[in-house]
Amino acid sequence: MAQGRKNGVKDLELIDGEQVARLEPNIKAVAAISSPSTGIVDSHKLMLRLEWLALEQGAIIAYNHEVIGVDSKGDGYYVTYRNPAGQHESIHCRWLINCAGLNSDQIVSFLGINVDDIGYRIYPCKGEYFSVSNTKSAFVSRLIYPPPLKELKGLGIHATKTLDGRLRFGPNAFYVKTLDYDVNEDHAQEFYDAVNTYLPFLNYSDLHPDMAGIRPKIQAPGDAICDFIVCHEVDRGFEGLINLIGIESPGLTSSLALAEMVKSLIH
Ligand SMILES: Cc1cc2nc3c(=O)[nH]c(=O)nc-3n(C[C@H](O)[C@H](O)[C@H](O)COP(=O)(O)OP(=O)(O)OC[C@H]3O[C@@H](n4cnc5c(N)ncnc54)[C@H](O)[C@@H]3O)c2cc1C
Repeated sequence: MAQGRKNGVKDLELIDGEQVARLEPNIKAVAAISSPSTGIVDSHKLMLRLEWLALEQGAIIAYNHEVIGVDSKGDGYYVTYRNPAGQHESIHCRWLINCAGLNSDQIVSFLGINVDDIGYRIYPCKGEYFSVSNTKSAFVSRLIYPPPLKELKGLGIHATKTLDGRLRFGPNAFYVKTLDYDVNEDHAQEFYDAVNTYLPFLNYSDLHPDMAGIRPKIQAPGDAICDFIVCHEVDRGFEGLINLIGIESPGLTSSLALAEMVKSLIH
């Protein structure tokens, strides 16, 4: 709560069990931090809006063009990519902003930088969600976060609402070697154990596999939690290269603030 206030969240309030029961009669809690300004957005619509605003400002967006090499030649960067027809082409730029998520370390490697030496290696960490049958979704009306665990790999499995009113739990967190977005049904027990302590109305059979995502973590297994890296690599001899590495949650929430940071680095 102190950290939240320090971050400028003015409406945080410590509430006791009775106050919790008035807000959310179906959850079990001895106390809670109430955060009335917490909210959810439609991420797809947000992306569409940002895309439209970028196009309006003259941006060119090239989907399905895969960057396969980057060279630095003193006058900026030559970025080689494979176009949708499978041909290799290249583009020259003075500023290169690397925000390639799970592949952002690979983009850095293209420039001959050893990502392990500078802590830029990405360790993919999967997060799955399970949803609850519609009848029980209405039992909770807000996002409910349990207290964070000591060995923090993510926020811990929490209860979120979707814009259409469904109740969803997740994400869990486990490191993966390959990138697939399946949800393992066998993980239902882990979800049940995590939420059963504060959602007593839930039965194991209420849980259904929902969706999964993969975080681009720079925190290796067992390491302490790492902050985002947003760096103009001028000290490494790469003027004009801005790296955004390890942009996991809450990267979407903070995307506009990150963009402001990048803008100020360029200016
Ligand atoms: C399970 C899960 C839950 C999350 N929950 C939240 C949340 O509640 N709130 C929140 O704020 N954030 C959340 N996040 C985090 C959020 O999704 C990310 O922080 C955000 O998507 C990062 O945006 P980005 O643009 O940096 O990277 P990405 O969204 O990963 O985009 C990178 C892009 O680069 C492209 N790319 C990669 N390599 C290449 C290449 N070689 N050539 C060309 N293009 C390339 C990719 O195709 C992709 O389009 C969650 C993430 C996960 C996995």
